[in-house]
Amino acid sequence: MSKYHCLGIESTAHTFGAAVVSSDGTILSNEREMHQTTSGGMIPMEVAKHHERVKEEVVKRALEKADVKMADIHLISVASSPGLLPALRVGVRYAKQLANENGKKLIGINHCVAHLTIGDLITGLKDPVYIYVSGVNTQVIAYSNGYLRVLGETLDVGLGNALDKFGRDVGLGFPAGPKIEQLAKNGKYVGLTYSVKGMDVSFSGIVTQASRLAEKGISNEDICYSLQETCFAMLCEVAERALAHTDKKSCILIGGVGANKRLCEMMDKMCKGRGATFAAAPLQYAGDQAAMIAWQGILEFNAGREDDQSLDSDPRLRVDEVKVTW
Ligand code: AMP
Ligand code: MG
Repeated sequence: MSKYHCLGIESTAHTFGAAVVSSDGTILSNEREMHQTTSGGMIPMEVAKHHERVKEEVVKRALEKADVKMADIHLISVASSPGLLPALRVGVRYAKQLANENGKKLIGINHCVAHLTIGDLITGLKDPVYIYVSGVNTQVIAYSNGYLRVLGETLDVGLGNALDKFGRDVGLGFPAGPKIEQLAKNGKYVGLTYSVKGMDVSFSGIVTQASRLAEKGISNEDICYSLQETCFAMLCEVAERALAHTDKKSCILIGGVGANKRLCEMMDKMCKGRGATFAAAPLQYAGDQAAMIAWQGILEFNAGREDDQSLDSDPRLRVDEVKVTW
């Protein structure tokens, strides 16, 4: 197939994104608008309203920045699973509308899979262990025999949401991760319960503990430092075991929490100790954005898959339920 352009659309959670990627993997644009609040968390209907408000503008910007017109687009790829249903629907409906009005090919892809494959594209690493730490998800994943297998995961909330929950409890606003990273720089260790169960991790108890410490007057700096050290060490332990069991030689950190420098430093040290290569997806590709949606659309479309106007949103489809065809 000759080279073509794909328009990617992302709306599974807080971010509405649009990007143009060419089928050879060149990212021509990657635009986004994030729903933010100064206090409290994400309310699904509010997020959906935000996405409705910005969708046309963001797609227009993505086309302009890429210096292409809608006529130059061959394929529209949209994240159709998993996510917050009201938010997810905004992107899926808009992608279907654009495909229908402009006579484009359409494909719906899994957001979590896209987080992984953009990691491969950007870092150039092949067949790694993926440490996927976003708002909702915390999973250690590796490819085996046709599927991206979840080797370990959180038993309750994702690490990003855990950090955001603590942030909400102490009034840091949303998203709290970057603020926690800043505060942690001036903190010292106070005890929190380290919670690894087999290959799985658990964060909700730690957050409750952290919020109680705040009520008792322990400084946010100390709690943030301890939260990071405890939760990140738990992830490193599971990631190391995944490398040991699978015998893979590299590790990619992806998802919004992957923006955290301290987490990268700890993972890098663990990988070096085992002779494995570590890479974190660069900041602009670590969190939710549409370049990854476009790229995964290209991979699956090239492997022969395509959707039509019956494409529906699926708020739950897991990463390990998607057959790897690409
Ligand atoms: P995602 O769902 O992949 O877009 O990731 C969003 C999550 O990443 C939110 O829960 C943020 O709090 C978290 N996050 C963003 N930046 C950082 C950071 N520097 N340190 C820790 N967590 C972060
Ligand atoms: Mg995500």
